This record gives sequence, structure tokens and C-alpha cells, in this order.
Amino acid sequence: MQRFIRFFTHLVMAKALACTAKPAAQRAKKICAVVYVPIHEANTQNKSLKKLFHIGCYRQKAKLLSTRIAGFSRDGYIGHVPKILASVLSFLYPQRCTSCKTFVQPEEHFCRGCLPFVRAIASPLCLCCGEPFATPVGPDHLCRVCLAAPPPFRRARAWAYYQTGEATPQPLSEAIQHFKYQRNLSVGKALATLAATHFSFSDEDYDVIVPVPLHIDRLRWRGFNQSLLLSRVIGRTRKIKVDPFLLARTRSTAPQTQLPEKERRENVKGAFTVVSPKRIQKQRVLLVDDVYTSGATVRECANALSYEGARIVDVFTLARAVSH
Ligand SMILES: [Zn+2]
Ligand SMILES: [Zn+2]
Repeated sequence: MQRFIRFFTHLVMAKALACTAKPAAQRAKKICAVVYVPIHEANTQNKSLKKLFHIGCYRQKAKLLSTRIAGFSRDGYIGHVPKILASVLSFLYPQRCTSCKTFVQPEEHFCRGCLPFVRAIASPLCLCCGEPFATPVGPDHLCRVCLAAPPPFRRARAWAYYQTGEATPQPLSEAIQHFKYQRNLSVGKALATLAATHFSFSDEDYDVIVPVPLHIDRLRWRGFNQSLLLSRVIGRTRKIKVDPFLLARTRSTAPQTQLPEKERRENVKGAFTVVSPKRIQKQRVLLVDDVYTSGATVRECANALSYEGARIVDVFTLARAVSH
């Protein structure tokens, strides 16, 4: 009901503006903002507003509305045209839960049923590979794997757990699968926004973001590279350039999730090549992928980047598979 009221209000307002603001704009040459005056203030004697927007026309419609809209916010509202359009669009195409598709508020990505099952990764975790420890208390330290064989990247972090199995709902994993295998780009957009929001490395300035590349065969099949979509939103938010042509996957490999852990490293060995070694010299690189499973893929990418002269390679993924 609230959504309907908001939409209806904006619709009337937009209609009024369409017939009033345009001639006003033509006379005044420029209008930087559209001002929506709440109903109880529509009778105001604000001459400057009247002059700009010919509120008289709008006031009549507002009066009509005033009998129907009870409890409408009387705090006033100042918005811009894009905001009005966004409200109309959000009514026509309401936001849905990224996983189960139930309706949610425009600013939400998961519904109340799914959200508790999206688990963010938190300390204590491995300082290098970011693996969260099973014990929920204690300081961060290096894990057994990183101590035995330090990875070629400096550090890796992920936003949330990538869980599989049917014991509990897995909204994030399901959303990622919708995105990748059902090619649902609207889910991808929501996930990219989440990745950018929960990006971990705010203390470092990177020269370039490199998305983990797909082999051309996989790219043709899917139609997009999910890591590139995530990279673009992170890059835009953090103002870091994204270079999807620095690294190439020169060999087609089986999906890592289909392989036992031991075979994953062999599967991606030598599969990545730096296309332009000159462009990677002394660069601080952020490598972005959707899911960190065994880490074999990002290790191989980081190996190629470091070998060709990257100064730093950090890894950020949207989600991470954890064994415990
Ligand atoms: Zn849901
Ligand atoms: Zn580790």
C-alpha cells in the first residue's frame, strides 16, 4: 500500500511537472532541481516556487490527493527528477530477493527469510589466504597451508561463505549459480553491488583490477565474464581502472567445482598468460573472482602476474568455500 501511495504521489507530481516545469525551464533557461511540496504545504504562498513551477496547477491535483492519502509524511520532500523516475521504475519493476525472488524493499538484496543464512566471513582468519578458522575467538594468524607453502598472492579476502548442501538454505550460493549458470544478469548486478559494498581492502591503492578471465569457449557459452562484471562495479566504486585484457586463459579447463581438491591445481596449471607483460610491470594488482574454492585458480593467476613483474597481487572474491 505504501508503495502504491508513493508511486501515485510521484505520478501526479511528475504529470504536474511535465506541464509546468518545461515552460518554466524554457523561460528560466535552467532548472537544477525539482521540488516536491508536501500536500499541507501546497497552499503555501512561496512565491519563488510558484514562479518556478507554477504550483497552482499542481496544487489542484495535490488537493485531490489529500483526501485519499492519510498518514503521508509531512516532513517535506526535495528530490531530483531521477529520484522520481527511480520510484516509478521501482514500482513497475520492484526489487526482488536475489535468491528466492520474493519482493523486498528497493535498498535490500536478500529477503528477511534469506538474509540470516548469508554469513559474512569475519576474524579470526588466516592473514594471508583469508580462510576463517573454526574457532570463533582469537587473533588472526597464518594458517597451516600458507605456512607450509606461501601463496603467490599477498592476501586474499572474500565477503561471505559459499555454502553448498541441503542442510540449510544457501541463498548466496544459489544467487551466484543463478547468475553464472542461468545467466541472470539482474542477480549479477545485485551481487556486484554487494561485492563493492563489502570490499575488504580499503587501505590499499591499486593500479589495476584484473578479473579472472574465462576461456573463449566458456565466454561464448555464457555470454559474459562474471568476474569482469564484479570488477567493473568495484572499480567504479573505488575508482580503480579495470583491465580485462591483461590476463588470458589460454587453455580450456573443467569447472573447478566438479573436481576433487587434489585435481584442481593440475586442472588450471599453466592455463593463464599475461597478454602484455609491459603493462603489468611494478603494478599493484587486485585480482577479482566470484568464488574462492580451493584457491588453485587465483594462485595460478597470481603466479602468472607476479612472474611477469606485478609488484603486489591481492585477491578479492565475492564468496569463499570453507571446509568447516
Ligand atoms: Zn529470499
Ligand atoms: Zn592461509
